[in-house]
Amino acid sequence: MISALLDRASRSSRSRHLVETFPLTRRVVDRFVAGETSRDAVEVAAALAASGMRVSIDVLGEDVVDGGGARRTGQAYVDLLQLLDERGLASGADVSLKLSALGRALPQGGEAMAAEHAHGICEVAASVGSTVTLDMEDHTTVDSTLRIGEQLRATFPWVATVLQSNLRRTDGDIAAVADPPARVRLVKGAYREPGTVAHERKRDVDRAYARQIEALMASGCHPMIATHDPAMLEHARASAARHGRAPGDWEVQMLFGVRTDLQRQVRDRGDTMRVYVPFGTDWYGYLMRRLAERPANVVFFLRALAGR
Ligand SMILES: Cc1cc2nc3c(=O)[nH]c(=O)nc-3n(C[C@H](O)[C@H](O)[C@H](O)COP(=O)(O)OP(=O)(O)OC[C@H]3O[C@@H](n4cnc5c(N)ncnc54)[C@H](O)[C@@H]3O)c2cc1C
Repeated sequence: MISALLDRASRSSRSRHLVETFPLTRRVVDRFVAGETSRDAVEVAAALAASGMRVSIDVLGEDVVDGGGARRTGQAYVDLLQLLDERGLASGADVSLKLSALGRALPQGGEAMAAEHAHGICEVAASVGSTVTLDMEDHTTVDSTLRIGEQLRATFPWVATVLQSNLRRTDGDIAAVADPPARVRLVKGAYREPGTVAHERKRDVDRAYARQIEALMASGCHPMIATHDPAMLEHARASAARHGRAPGDWEVQMLFGVRTDLQRQVRDRGDTMRVYVPFGTDWYGYLMRRLAERPANVVFFLRALAGR
C-alpha cells in the first residue's frame, strides 16, 4: 500500500515539488545522500577508504530526456573520476551509472547516445584505475542495459551488470552473464513491477535471492552481494566458503546511510565491503525508492506531508 503510494508519488510532479520544498525533507535526504557536489562525495569516499571500505559513487539523476542533460551527466562522471584520481582514491573505486541519466529514453537514438556517453566514462575510468557498474532500472529497460553492458565489455571487461531477484527472468540472465571475468551485482530490486514479470511476495523474492547468490558463487564471476539483509549475508558468506572463494573473490555492497552497523561488521570480519555513495541535487527518485523499501522511513514523512 505504502509502496504503491510512493510509486505514484515518484512519478507525480506535484508530489515532487511538495517533497523537494518541504522543510523537513533535508534531514531525510542528508541521511541517504552524500552531499550535492563531487567534492562532497569524494570527502565521503576518503573517509570510507580510511575506514577500510570501498565505494561505488553515483551521480544522482535519471530519466533525462534531452541531449544537453545527458552530456552534463556524462561530464559529471568524468569530473568525479578526475577528482578521485587527484585525491589518490581512483584505484579500486567504482562508479554506478543509470543509462536513463545518459539519455537512453530519448525517442531518436537514445540507446546509442547513452552507450556513447557510457563508453566515454569507461575510457576515463580505465585511465585512472576505476571500474563502472550499470545500475539496473525498471523491467522495461533490462534488455537494453544488458545489450549496452555486453558492448562495453568487449573493450572494458570489468563493466559490471546488476541483476534484480524480483524479476522472474533473472535465473536465465545469470546463466547468460556470469562467465568470468564478469562482475555481477545482485539486488532484490527497487522498482515496483507488475506480477507478469516479477515475484509479488517478498518471500518469493527472498527465495530467488538466496538461490541466485548460490548460482553466482558457483560461477566464475565476481559476485557483488548488494543487500542489508543479515540472513542473506550469512548465506552469501557460507556459500562463498563452500565454493572456496577468498574475501577478495566476492564482495558485499550496501547503500550510504543504511545499516552502517552491518557495514562495519562485514569489514571487521575481513570481507570486502563497498558502499554505494550517491550525490547531487536530483535526489527525488532515489529518495522515494529508499522510503518505499522501509515503512519506518516513511511514517514521519507522510505524516508531515499530510499536515501541510
Ligand atoms: C549497493 C546497492 C546497489 C543497488 N543498486 C540497485 C539497482 O541498480 N537497481 C535496483 O533495482 N535496486 C538496486 N538496489 C536496491 C535493492 O534492489 C533493494 O531495493 C534494497 O537494497 C533493499 O533491499 P535489501 O536487499 O536490503 O533487503 P530488504 O529485505 O528490503 O531489507 C532488509 C533489511 O535492510 C534494511 N533496509 C533495507 N532498505 C532500507 C532502507 N531504505 N532504509 C533503511 N533500512 C533499510 C532493513 O533493516 C531491512 O529489514 C541496490 C542496493 C544496494 C545495496
